[in-house]
Amino acid sequence: MRIEITTLPGDGIGPEVTAQAVRVLRVTAERFGHQLEVTEKNIGGAALLTSNDPLPQDTLRASLSSGAVLLGAVGGPAFDAYPPHLRPESGLLRLRKELGVFANLRPALSLRQLESLSPLRAEVVRGTDVLIVRELLGGLYFGDRSIRGEPGGRTAIDTMMYQEGQIERIARMAFELASQRRQHVTSVDKANVLDCSRLWREVVTRVGKDFPQVALSHMYVDAAAMALVSHPTEFDTVLTENMFGDILSDQAGAVVGSLGLLPSASLGGKVGLYEPIHGSAPNLAGQGIANPLGAVLSGAMLLRHSFQLEAEAGAIESAVQEVLAFGHRTRDLGGGENSVSTEGMGDLVSERVITART
Ligand code: NAD
Repeated sequence: MRIEITTLPGDGIGPEVTAQAVRVLRVTAERFGHQLEVTEKNIGGAALLTSNDPLPQDTLRASLSSGAVLLGAVGGPAFDAYPPHLRPESGLLRLRKELGVFANLRPALSLRQLESLSPLRAEVVRGTDVLIVRELLGGLYFGDRSIRGEPGGRTAIDTMMYQEGQIERIARMAFELASQRRQHVTSVDKANVLDCSRLWREVVTRVGKDFPQVALSHMYVDAAAMALVSHPTEFDTVLTENMFGDILSDQAGAVVGSLGLLPSASLGGKVGLYEPIHGSAPNLAGQGIANPLGAVLSGAMLLRHSFQLEAEAGAIESAVQEVLAFGHRTRDLGGGENSVSTEGMGDLVSERVITART
């Protein structure tokens, strides 16, 4: 099979972790007899510096015409003073919208060998396996731009808006995903306060009736935040709107060990977008110490969801687990003086993919 992808390394540690993800994809493709074709383009601050646009036309065109997009991260302090429409993050939001990817899947899995990294006690975190399904194209991040405070004024306004269709399509996807997991959806909202959440709850309940095999419970976001740290193993599939999902998925990342480990897939449009959930980590950039595993595991999700290559995705995931089981650690995973570099971690995972028995 020809696996055609566009990579958008972006800013900060983005290029470092993306390079390792591509290496692992390459050896995986070779091992399984596929042909990997990679087109690299600029996004975020890197694109601003070359073309004064955080999402150049050329980048968008290449993304829309490829089989999948693998992104590193965007943003950094150098761009903090830019006007909102020129911020690196606005390029990423536009890309998600142009690709039509309304569903962001963020799995957080606790690995036995990393339990000690969790701020929670091992017996609390053990067995955590949560899939956060976050709505990605609505809510506060895509509010009505015509309703704003005065630029630079002392009143600021952001609007949250959801249409029934937007809720229905993400709910359907969450129930379908839960059907293949432990068959429980927890829908997270703030229906005691927000109109958007009341509509959310009503629509999710209706869609849930089409999936009688999946249990549905509703939770307010504040209670969910608490439950995610007090008994994380009780969650299976968490369905929630854009901002709540953004926050809860970082929290889930901390629960299972490190932000640097967690991948994501954004689906629902013509082309899937895959990215680690972490940001550009400017404090680590250029030092070769960032954890590339979130990006590497995003590559596994890319093979699974955009190319239906389940065995290939599984080979990468097993390789990552084995490397961690052997005790190899980047600095964020508590590697201390014996920490493996970003590239070293890429080497180890690539070697495991090549030598693993089929
Ligand atoms: P961050 O995720 O970049 O960093 C948070 C913390 O996690 C830092 O201590 C960092 O060192 C650590 N960390 C992150 N990724 C790591 C990795 N792979 N290995 C080891 N440690 C890692 O979040 P932030 O500091 O809030 O934001 C930094 C910049 O990234 C900002 O400009 C922000 O807007 C941007 N950002 C981008 C994205 C994205 O591209 N999707 C997401 C979040 C933040």
